[in-house]
Amino acid sequence: MIKSCFLLRLALALGGALTLGAQAQTTNLWELAREYERVHRFSTLFTAQDVRSRLSGDDGLAQAIDWCKRTAVTRVYVESFRDGYQAERSALEKARDGFRAAGLEVSGCVTPTRVGKSSTGWKDTISCYTDLPTQDRVQAIFEFTAALFDEIMIDDFWFTDCACPECDQARAARTVRVGGRAYTVRGETWEDYRCELMVRLSQDRVLSAAKKVNPKVGLIIKYPQWYDRFHDRGYEVIRETADFDRIWVGTETRDYADPQWGGTVPYEACFIMRWLGGIGGRKCGGGWYDWLGTTEKTYVEQARQTVLGGARASMLFCYGGLQGSTGPNNVEALRRDIPELLGVAKQVARRKIVGVAAYKPANSHPEDEARVFDFVGMLGLPLVPCHTFPTRAPAAFFSIHALKDADLVPKLGRFIASGKPVLVTDGLAGKLRGQVRLDARNVRILPVKGDPKALLQLPPSALEDLRAPLLKPFKTTFKAPNQVALYLFQDGSWVVENFNDQEARIELRGKALTVPARGWRQAWQ
Ligand SMILES: [Zn+2]
Repeated sequence: MIKSCFLLRLALALGGALTLGAQAQTTNLWELAREYERVHRFSTLFTAQDVRSRLSGDDGLAQAIDWCKRTAVTRVYVESFRDGYQAERSALEKARDGFRAAGLEVSGCVTPTRVGKSSTGWKDTISCYTDLPTQDRVQAIFEFTAALFDEIMIDDFWFTDCACPECDQARAARTVRVGGRAYTVRGETWEDYRCELMVRLSQDRVLSAAKKVNPKVGLIIKYPQWYDRFHDRGYEVIRETADFDRIWVGTETRDYADPQWGGTVPYEACFIMRWLGGIGGRKCGGGWYDWLGTTEKTYVEQARQTVLGGARASMLFCYGGLQGSTGPNNVEALRRDIPELLGVAKQVARRKIVGVAAYKPANSHPEDEARVFDFVGMLGLPLVPCHTFPTRAPAAFFSIHALKDADLVPKLGRFIASGKPVLVTDGLAGKLRGQVRLDARNVRILPVKGDPKALLQLPPSALEDLRAPLLKPFKTTFKAPNQVALYLFQDGSWVVENFNDQEARIELRGKALTVPARGWRQAWQ
């Protein structure tokens, strides 16, 4: 602060207030970022194509360093491969060394798109990993990258949706072949085959191959934002999280109303961050969001939800993308909010969240309740996502996902018998009728009707009926319109975020408050 005041006075004295005003901001955010990097770190990524076009020359590299410092970015991921293109070793080394010399931390990244034989599903992007030459190619990419960096992120295309004759034959034979080894698959479904294939491919062709080249290298698996379909395409969050050194979380919810990228509500970022955070524990590095299909307001919402989700870092994907379309305005909006975001990250890191346990077992199938958790969070029910049965939770929410748990019936029966408030979707209730006491006084049925989006239309009176019993264990009452989310902490601290385009009048624990349109309010004890 002292330094920036000095710079400002200097600027006025020199009559160059505009340029030095910008410089004062630079100094501020960079210094602040350094001060907070153990609590929360901002990072960005340079795609392999950016390495070629934006970092090969001295001017481009200097501009990129300046941008990072003005955006509180203290770590960069310099990518070696994307869309069939491998960056030049000399360009990667120049970028790596240049960023390091400027005081930034540098890691590598691989985006496994257009690696070899194309998938029959997402053509010319995703690969057929049953194909042995494609396995060889992917190994070579990781060996190349491990020789240059001590940490490598894998962007969220590390899956397969191929159903070619070779894949189909291997699936039917329940055998995954990786290099010279054969592994038995537990079942005959595509999910079984693809999960086993990606787990074994990661072990043999990525982790051990990279570590042979560079024993110090740590590998990060970045999970996509589409959490309800992970298992369909071979993302196996339990085994892969155990195998990899770190995990990362896609929190790119974008704009719900965007015609191309829309359909995901902002609360999802917080839900998936907490859910994968619970699976990864200390291995969970942070969240990752981008500018696609966002406005300044929805871009910043992604940042807030990532921080409220307990992330220790935010990856701003990606430098090149953020230079065009809505990127520059988004980044300006983010820069204005960074001091506040870092402050909130510090408060969140000190506290335990409390609320209604939201049970999504790993590899669970949504059926017609896809991503229902995100919509329930938008109703002003503070969720505590979990992947194991929440036996000790003070209140809990169960959806069709919970059927993945083979012991659901006795566990849920005991939970209901304990008298604690329970919310059950109508879909799950339909499947459990006659097996558990759904008519108990402490059980409420949530009318999803196979259309989670429709929950956003529930009127305030219906929301109050839902919230009152579920919030009782937390000594909290909450009245608010739909799409106003509540976040509670064990010490009584709270955050309320309003996702509506109008100011929200709310009542929290008997106190009337207003929350600005697309804004938030917080109280820290
Ligand atoms: Zn195939």
